[in-house]
Amino acid sequence: MDETEIPEDHPRYASLVTRHRIEAGVERGITSKQGLIAQGRGEAFDYLLGERTLPSADGAARAAAATLLLAERPVISVNGNVAALAPGETVELADAVDADLEVNLFNHTDERVRRIADHLRDHGAGEVKGLAGDGEIPGLDHARGVVDADGIEAADVVVVPLEDGDRAAALDAMGKTEVVIDLNPGSRSPRTADVPIIDNLLRAVPNVTAHARDLADATPAELEAIVDGFDADAALDAAEATIRDGSFADADDA
Ligand code: ATP
Ligand code: MG
Repeated sequence: MDETEIPEDHPRYASLVTRHRIEAGVERGITSKQGLIAQGRGEAFDYLLGERTLPSADGAARAAAATLLLAERPVISVNGNVAALAPGETVELADAVDADLEVNLFNHTDERVRRIADHLRDHGAGEVKGLAGDGEIPGLDHARGVVDADGIEAADVVVVPLEDGDRAAALDAMGKTEVVIDLNPGSRSPRTADVPIIDNLLRAVPNVTAHARDLADATPAELEAIVDGFDADAALDAAEATIRDGSFADADDA
């Protein structure tokens, strides 16, 4: 089925579009089969969160925007799920905060990196990093730790949507400031992050861009105040509390 054939008034429209995009990503060789499994987990958590951006996630998105605007060398890490779900939105975020894009895959193959880079360029990206592979994240086996020396290795702030927990921890050990987008507040990656955004990347990426545009004229002191005022543990707790109290069941009426 083509994405355009999904009826827009279907109650699960966004979820069906998401599934379709991931499936198409696998068919085009940009998303791994593992990515399908990650998608399934994400969908379950999105359901439990009410398929909406919580106020705490919006606060995290604003803190992420401020963090990125303050960064010297921000890099947005792109994997097969990100490329399939939100390629244009990711390119727009990179433009809004002047960040580099780097393809970084858990299941790395040069072929898939090239396809994802081409896909991002089709959606307006200029330079896309990730093919040099001349840097490393220490503490991981080689295949998992390959990055570009002038990309993620040299970055001060890294946006890692849907990052694996081990790699998030290894990036943290390198001293990177990490923005993680993940729907599971209990997953290790958001728990490692300086700024965990517990939201669907389809909503979170454009939301960070909107906050970055809104903050474009803010002074460094104003941006620092936003970063300092953000409490990562409180954001994780707010998402977890939402899941536990079952308020997702009311979200359709909201
Ligand atoms: P770890 O604790 O090592 O991170 P994990 O169980 O979280 O392990 P992952 O491979 O990180 O394993 O799982 C994929 C993660 O991506 C899940 O937490 C899932 O909620 C999240 N995810 C999947 N799709 C999306 C999406 N569209 N937006 C945001 N997060 C998503
Ligand atoms: Mg995880």
